[in-house]
Amino acid sequence: MTSDCPLLPVIGGDLRVPLVTGGDARYVNLDYAASTPALESVATHLNEVLPLYASVHRGAGYASQVSTAAYEHARRLVGAFLGARTDDAVIFTRNTTDSLKLLASAVPGETVLLDIEHHANLLPWMEHAARVVPAAGTLEESLRLVDSELAARPASLVTVTGASNVTGETLPLRRLATIAHRHGARLAVDGAQLVPHRRVDLAFDGVDYLAFSGHKTYAPFGAGVLVGRRDWLDVAPPYLRGGGAVTTVTLDGADWRTGPARHEAGSPNVLGVVALARAIRALDELDPGAWHDHESALRERLVSGLEQLPGVRVHRLFSDSVDPVGVVSFTVEGADSRLVASYLSAEWGIGLRDGKFCAHPLLSRLGIAQPALRASFGLGSSDADVEALIAALAAFLGEGPAWRYEQIDGQWNV
Ligand code: PMP
Repeated sequence: MTSDCPLLPVIGGDLRVPLVTGGDARYVNLDYAASTPALESVATHLNEVLPLYASVHRGAGYASQVSTAAYEHARRLVGAFLGARTDDAVIFTRNTTDSLKLLASAVPGETVLLDIEHHANLLPWMEHAARVVPAAGTLEESLRLVDSELAARPASLVTVTGASNVTGETLPLRRLATIAHRHGARLAVDGAQLVPHRRVDLAFDGVDYLAFSGHKTYAPFGAGVLVGRRDWLDVAPPYLRGGGAVTTVTLDGADWRTGPARHEAGSPNVLGVVALARAIRALDELDPGAWHDHESALRERLVSGLEQLPGVRVHRLFSDSVDPVGVVSFTVEGADSRLVASYLSAEWGIGLRDGKFCAHPLLSRLGIAQPALRASFGLGSSDADVEALIAALAAFLGEGPAWRYEQIDGQWNV
């Protein structure tokens, strides 16, 4: 099975970029895990709705009414796509980081997590009551450790990444939900890298909360989602205090709304939300089998190509993980990752990520002291992208880097 053409057209799919050697090349975007390109259908839709750009929930004017309807329609569409239950709230935020911070402010007790999280699903919990369980070398053993931690001391929530932003490995959400629920805890999922690659069904999987970002899900920057059980959110401190979140205000205090409005004060990012919903509609219309096969064929080819290159090491967390998504991290022995990434960009027009991927404890767990490299892809990717990276790395290993890259400052490794 090959994926010789993109599954859906994306903006910038035929972009050309200048090369340091002169001339230009097709831009090979292997940085989907940072931000996916927007789908063409999303861009078309944005152009259609732009004339009706207006503030929502505020005015009787036609544009305001249409924008309000579009904004609330987006909420329903996102909830339906994710299999939200009737007692779930869909709250629009800025991104996954924002969603998880909001959730952390609403949890009425302790939270258990593994030490394999992106900083966005680690730092907010550390401000509250978090118990971090060191993951084991297998998923099986890691699940057992979460189980024992909850058995030893109850917690309100277990929070996990749906798919790792470093290794692409996925976590078994249904099993984690069963474990959490058995001990009276809820399950939250950082879906930043899962929602762009896999269908998630909150009701079916037993996931109580899910966070994700529009800019990693084929829409532009600026809108994110927190979806999940309303009860905690309805009594949590309002995340943003201001217009729209209150029913009445006097100089003595305010009556705060319940539902999404409680946490969405101010003028929301209507266009971002509408774009996100249009991208979700496109994902909903995809054949799940074709979507899965497209990305797993690319991943298999990439991993086998990388593993055949001398000195290239592909990173994995668990020896028993199954069905990872299109995110692959690796290091080139003896080579500075910033230098490799710069070479790939300047000489081949390949964009990928170098650094520590906002997951420092995870990189320590993998025994990676220095920044690494990450290639990631999705609906707009094809075999040609993967082959370009493998060929470029082979050339790098064959020729060695040109002197001009040795000046590059390797400090930028967040
Ligand atoms: N969680 C994971 C797993 C991620 O990959 C990212 C983004 N790199 C985030 C959270 C944070 O997403 P955002 O920057 O959109 O808030």
